[in-house]
Amino acid sequence: TSRVIEALAQNRRPHRLAITLERASYEVVIGSSLLARAGLLLAPLLPQPRVVVITDETVASLHLQSLLDSLSDSGIHSQTVIVPPGERSKSLEEYKRVTDAVLESGVERRTTIIAFGGGIVGDLAGFVAATTLRGLPFAQIPTTLLSQVDSSVGGKTGINTSWGKNLLGAFHQPIAVLADVSTLRTLPQRELVAGYAEILKAGLISDPELFAWCEANASAVLSQDAGALTEAVERACAFKASVVADDEFERRSDGGRALLNLGHTFGHALEAEMGYDGSLLHGEAVSIGLRLAFLLSVRLGVCPQEDLDRVTAHLEAHEMPSRISSLARAVTADALVAHMARDKKMSDGKLSFVLVKGIGQAFSSRDVPMSLVRQVLIEDGA
Ligand code: NAD
Ligand code: MG
Repeated sequence: TSRVIEALAQNRRPHRLAITLERASYEVVIGSSLLARAGLLLAPLLPQPRVVVITDETVASLHLQSLLDSLSDSGIHSQTVIVPPGERSKSLEEYKRVTDAVLESGVERRTTIIAFGGGIVGDLAGFVAATTLRGLPFAQIPTTLLSQVDSSVGGKTGINTSWGKNLLGAFHQPIAVLADVSTLRTLPQRELVAGYAEILKAGLISDPELFAWCEANASAVLSQDAGALTEAVERACAFKASVVADDEFERRSDGGRALLNLGHTFGHALEAEMGYDGSLLHGEAVSIGLRLAFLLSVRLGVCPQEDLDRVTAHLEAHEMPSRISSLARAVTADALVAHMARDKKMSDGKLSFVLVKGIGQAFSSRDVPMSLVRQVLIEDGA
């Protein structure tokens, strides 16, 4: 019967989510077994039947052939550029190598760049698309849960510099996003959980119904139930799309895209302190950071304790990272505070925090005393 159910799931029509922005509109197509249909889905949208697929070695070895077959079945000519997996590929050196390869292949203004991989490939390929010949059409086929629910929607692209992460970049919206949840089957479980933390974040920011849905469906999502994954991706993308539509270029100083940083001021500090060596994934840091944002809000007297308890219970029930004390090695509050002071969300010398009045009620604040932040970090095990 499981094979029958699988076949039914594969036949299920993909969900389509429309993203409408001032200067662009596109669809996010979400479902199972979309790679095999990528050619059919993309063909009507491509300005010319020609693409350059940018991917990483891991994704290439697992999934590239199905994508290329599907493109060629639809008469789409493709070339491929493969980068090493990992954050190091979001560098000026790799950007140069990839743009050289893209230019060498003789791209024209109407050739589409396809980002096929996780957020790293998406950010790099998107920036290549944004800048090559002053802007090439761009499509996203995200293959990690994080990239399906977060980085592939919203149009931010970019690379890192020695001065920090994502400091060179551009807003460049895709012409389409294809989120095939079947590709997630090969994703390491830790990466799946890390992506799930960003879904949880969406609910905690302004969608209490999404958080309640997570409470009921997290087990199904984390055990790769295709229906649950499709719905989770759709709900999280719908949330992100609404935030992005409201603040496409991150100009609003409060609310808007800034709220997407819930849990991230803490998360970025934890990541920086752990050294980006794979010992703490971004989403794992966000998982701890989300709870810290609730703890800080409770200690500031703006959030009820019971909402913190509900978040904590959810993280613990699904064995997600929840406390600084659970990290592989000790970190100090001083070190974390120093990282926060260097965060690019500083403006006029003040740090902006995203706080909560409760589940689904985030707001930004610029007057959180650092002494209280330090106290909360120590309470959590720093
Ligand atoms: P990633 O791209 O490194 O992917 C994680 C790992 O999984 C990599 O080793 C990759 O090779 C592998 N992988 C990818 N798909 C796979 C699959 N289907 N099966 C097996 N392995 C697979 O990381 P990520 O978490 O997807 O993205 C992180 C990046 O996204 C960061 O650079 C971050 O800055 C960026 N980001 C950007 C935005 C944005 O708005 N542009 C938002 C959030 C994060
Ligand atoms: Mg994030």
